[in-house]
This record gives sequence, structure tokens and C-alpha cells, in this order.
Amino acid sequence: MFNVISNELLAENLHKMVISAPRVARARKPGQFVIVRLAPGEERIPLTIGDADAQAGTITLFIQAIGASTQKIVATPAGGALRDVAGPLGKETHIANWGRVACVGGGVGTAVLFPLVKALAGAGNRITTIIGGRSSRYIILADELAPLSERLLVTTEDGTLGSTGFVTGPLQEMLADPERAPQAVFAVGPVPMMKAVAELTRPHGIETVVSLNPIMIDGTGMCGGCRVQIGGATKFACVDGPEFDAHLVDFDGLSDRLSSYRKEEAARHAATGC
Ligand code: NAD
Repeated sequence: MFNVISNELLAENLHKMVISAPRVARARKPGQFVIVRLAPGEERIPLTIGDADAQAGTITLFIQAIGASTQKIVATPAGGALRDVAGPLGKETHIANWGRVACVGGGVGTAVLFPLVKALAGAGNRITTIIGGRSSRYIILADELAPLSERLLVTTEDGTLGSTGFVTGPLQEMLADPERAPQAVFAVGPVPMMKAVAELTRPHGIETVVSLNPIMIDGTGMCGGCRVQIGGATKFACVDGPEFDAHLVDFDGLSDRLSSYRKEEAARHAATGC
């Protein structure tokens, strides 16, 4: 069993849970994830390791409660426990000192971006972090990202915080200014956002990395559920990723696969309310 040390509501439906998992906390590298199962028979949920404290033996998970299983996980209070926390899984992020780096987080993808920003800052990069959401209610981790970033820019679609629009607006401005253009870009968020970032950086030939979240089941390369097309080759996000060269990703194929079960999800939602 993996004890829940704390469980805090960060934003609408988004929880920060600190879990006791000493071996995972010691072994994990930025970019890796775990598969969590609340109890035998429950769904396996892949979650990025947001942070870890090797000494305390804890990992931090940011969990968006969007389905029945994630709702049950976030309903576990401090003092409760999760049955399985398997990991660390996936490849670690390739971290180097590029110099000037832009890190772009869309909505809940910002939680996945956080450990990357931390590692990139640790390697001496000068980071412009751009985070955005539909409104101020969906802006997360700004206080944690600010000290790691040379500049933190916030966008909201309704203008309730920062500049109005998408995260791609400030990135486009950076790319147009040779004094500010980044040498590398990291982007995590909804697929249309990551595709838009890839199309912005492609003409500039700027190294761009995205973290993909396809449907995933076993997380160890056996089921093939998380297959994605990268440069025309089939890769498994769980063992070959989750990070890939954005300029090689087939984002349209990824969108299609992510919507495979939309009808079943809608039917379940109508029947159960979650
Ligand atoms: P959202 O739809 O509210 O979008 C968040 C922000 O992303 C927007 O405010 C905007 O700034 C940017 N964005 C969205 N569409 C864009 C576009 N077409 N062009 C440019 N920028 C765009 O996001 P949300 O509801 O917080 O997140 C949910 C989505 O994020 C789900 O699809 C989920 O699967 C995905 N997600 C991805 C990861 C990952 O690892 N890549 C992790 C968690 C969630």
C-alpha cells in the first residue's frame, strides 16, 4: 500500500497528492511517470511524477479528476492509501544547457511541465515559462514556476489573468525577436496546442520537445495501446517516450486515437454522472 501524505485541491478538479513511495522517489528522473491503481480491479491510471523528495520518500502527483477512476483516486484523503504505484516508467527527459529555453504549458499540462522546468533550471538554462488556461481558475503552479524561470508569462482565453489569448501568442512574439528567440522549446498540454507550437517552431528549426499522453494501459510496452506515429515509425509512448521530437509527431493520428472511446465515455457519463 502507498500512503497518501497530503491531498490538496489546486484548481477546479485538479489535486496535488503527496504519496509515500520511497523506492520510486529515489529512482525517478524528470519526465518519468507512474501507473496508479486505487484497488484491485480498478483502472490503471498513468500519471507524471510532478516532483519527488528522495529523503522523505515521497512523490507528488498532480491529478485532474475527469473520469470515474481519477475521481475515486482524488477522493482518497490524507491518511488513506493507494493499492499500487508502479514506476518510475518511461524515458527520462534529455536535459542539457541550451541557453535560452521556452517552456509552454497548456491547462493541466502545466503540471507535467513543472518537473521539466525544474530540471532545465537546474542545468543552468534561462527559461521563459508560458502557461495558459481558459480562465484564471485554470492557471496552476505559477508560484512554483516563477522562481525557476527568468520570466513567467500567463495567458487566459477570457483575459481574467495575464494577456488574453492562447499560450502560442507570447511564444510567437519570442520567435519573432532574434534577441529573445529560444534555442529549445518544451511544450505540454492539449494536442492542438502542442501541434500549434510545433508548427510555430518548425520554420525556425528550433529543437522542440512535447510530452504525449495517449491512451495507456500497462505502461510497459506490452499492450500497444499508447502507440503513436513518430517520423513515420510506430513508437510506444510508455517505453519510447512520453517525450518526442515535436516536428516528427503525427498529432492528427494522436487526436484520432484519443477520441476512440468518446462515444462510450459519453454514454458512461450520461449513465453514472462521471
Ligand atoms: P484547455 O483546452 O483548457 O487548453 C489550455 C490552454 O492550452 C489554452 O488556454 C491555450 O492557451 C492552449 N491551447 C489550447 N488549444 C490551443 C490551440 N489550438 N492553439 C494554441 N494553444 C492552445 O486544456 P485543459 O482542459 O486544461 O487540458 C485538457 C487537455 O490536456 C486534455 O486534452 C488532456 O488530454 C491534455 N493533457 C495533456 C498532457 C500531456 O502530457 N501532453 C497532460 C495532461 C493533460
